[in-house]
Amino acid sequence: MPTHEVLNQAPALQDYDPFEADLALAEALRREGAGWAEAEVARFSRATATREAIGWGFEANQNPPRLRTHDRWGNRIDEVEFHPAWHELMRLSISNAVHAGPWRDARPGAHVARAAKMALVSQTEAGHGCPISMTYSAVPALQQDPALLGEWSAKIVSLEYDPRMAPLGEKRGALIGMGMTEKQGGSDVRANTTRAEALGGGAYALTGHKWFCSAPMSDAFLVLAQAPRGLSCFLLPRWTPDGARNRFFLQRLKDKLGNRSNASSEVELDRAWARILGEEGRGVNTIRLDCVIGAAAITRQALAQAIHHCAHRRAFGRRLIEQPLMRSVLADLAIESEAATVLMMRLARAYDRRDEEAPVRRLGTAVAKYWVCKRAAPMIAEALECLGGNGYVEESALPRLYREAPLNSIWEGSGNVICLDVLRAIAREPGAREALIAELRLGQGANRGLDAALDAAEARLADPDESSARFLVESLALALQGSLLARHAPAAVSDAFCATRLGREHGYAFGSLPAGVDVQAILRRAWPAAGI
Ligand SMILES: Cc1cc2nc3c(=O)[nH]c(=O)nc-3n(C[C@H](O)[C@H](O)[C@H](O)COP(=O)(O)OP(=O)(O)OC[C@H]3O[C@@H](n4cnc5c(N)ncnc54)[C@H](O)[C@@H]3O)c2cc1C
Repeated sequence: MPTHEVLNQAPALQDYDPFEADLALAEALRREGAGWAEAEVARFSRATATREAIGWGFEANQNPPRLRTHDRWGNRIDEVEFHPAWHELMRLSISNAVHAGPWRDARPGAHVARAAKMALVSQTEAGHGCPISMTYSAVPALQQDPALLGEWSAKIVSLEYDPRMAPLGEKRGALIGMGMTEKQGGSDVRANTTRAEALGGGAYALTGHKWFCSAPMSDAFLVLAQAPRGLSCFLLPRWTPDGARNRFFLQRLKDKLGNRSNASSEVELDRAWARILGEEGRGVNTIRLDCVIGAAAITRQALAQAIHHCAHRRAFGRRLIEQPLMRSVLADLAIESEAATVLMMRLARAYDRRDEEAPVRRLGTAVAKYWVCKRAAPMIAEALECLGGNGYVEESALPRLYREAPLNSIWEGSGNVICLDVLRAIAREPGAREALIAELRLGQGANRGLDAALDAAEARLADPDESSARFLVESLALALQGSLLARHAPAAVSDAFCATRLGREHGYAFGSLPAGVDVQAILRRAWPAAGI
């Protein structure tokens, strides 16, 4: 620079190992049954954080997808064109089985290992996680129909990313999207007006629209439509069995707040060919775990960016990470991130133990989805502020994380709808309440504040009420996080969590920690490279 030397700027956080840096994640991987995957996850972790991969995340968001309704000769093609960086991200995740690990090899711990990988790559770029997640989540629905599963599974579990628009037989790998939401109702899918007319042999013609259909370049979609015997789930491929393009017409792409690398479309279905999944009137069965993983991942990345910056930036004669007030903010963010991580990984194990842990999975996923997603937006706003003005500019990762933050809370059940789902599970799922209480009680006796919170959560569970359901679900989530941290985290983290989140020795903003919190231990654990 002719006028000055550039000083006191943090180096880019790249070419590092986010798994090695995340002790809570690494411990949880081992504890929850996927120690066997450690080397594989570590290898993948380093690949997600190279300068090149991080660059793909920026490029894919600066160059959002473009809709191509027609070819140059005026034929409808209904395709979406993505920047090469998007394809690189997809290739990275698919070649490492993030979309299908447990469906390729169902050994104990497979969902846990896959959760860790998903959490790592979502820190690099969250948007491409949408098709990766939908493909993973769609498999339980396909399992209802062994014939359809047989037709699709080899392409779904393939490690080859094949972005070509082509019939299944010509493809080396396939992705699955979902089309549930319509203009007149997303949460209330019973309001769906798309009609399904039986053609015989399990085939139907679907007519109607979908108001949000993400990843429209997927090879097939789980679609809800009204069949004569009620709302039913269908598999709608982009190509019909006779090799023609299905009557699936992309109207436009959404101009979204964040998640800009990913395409979300509006679609017209004009007698589109589809196959029913299960019986008419049975709705849909997918996995919601990835909303928790997605929110925990961006929370962790925001923390990493904040601590990294503060470990390098100096103000008023000391590094920011040495300033007492900033240390309180960073430690508080670290507590939040570790609480999200332990809960995400505990739930992933409940997906591995499919039969034994069905009740805790049912209620635990909804509780975690509500709270971990809710906390992401305020947490990331605070992390952004740790970088000062540098956090507010697009060249840093923070604006993208901030715009992504509300999304996991909206899709697959917005906050209130998830709370209503918790009430439904409590009322109708046999053993769900008892399983959750048993899980909570495993932390009993470790901390007085936690014991009181467990009693209070259990009492609230006995008499749930719709208008106060948010308070109930928040109490359950905090009690669950407290119980997990008391059992598995160092005392510095779990004591601080219990004091601030359960004992309420905390203000409304992050960083208002009470005296006596071992901030040094919390920061060292959260970011060993901080050099403190
Ligand atoms: C980027 C993006 C991508 C998406 N991709 C897909 C996709 O691929 N496929 C797909 O099917 N959908 C997709 N969606 C849609 C998403 O799932 C819906 O937006 C979501 O389920 C909410 O539905 P809605 O928008 O119709 O809102 P509504 O159902 O109208 O809800 C609005 C608000 O009312 C609240 N509410 C609803 N019912 C009640 C009640 N009984 N009591 C109290 N409060 C209530 C909700 O919590 C919410 O806060 C996507 C959305 C976004 C933002």
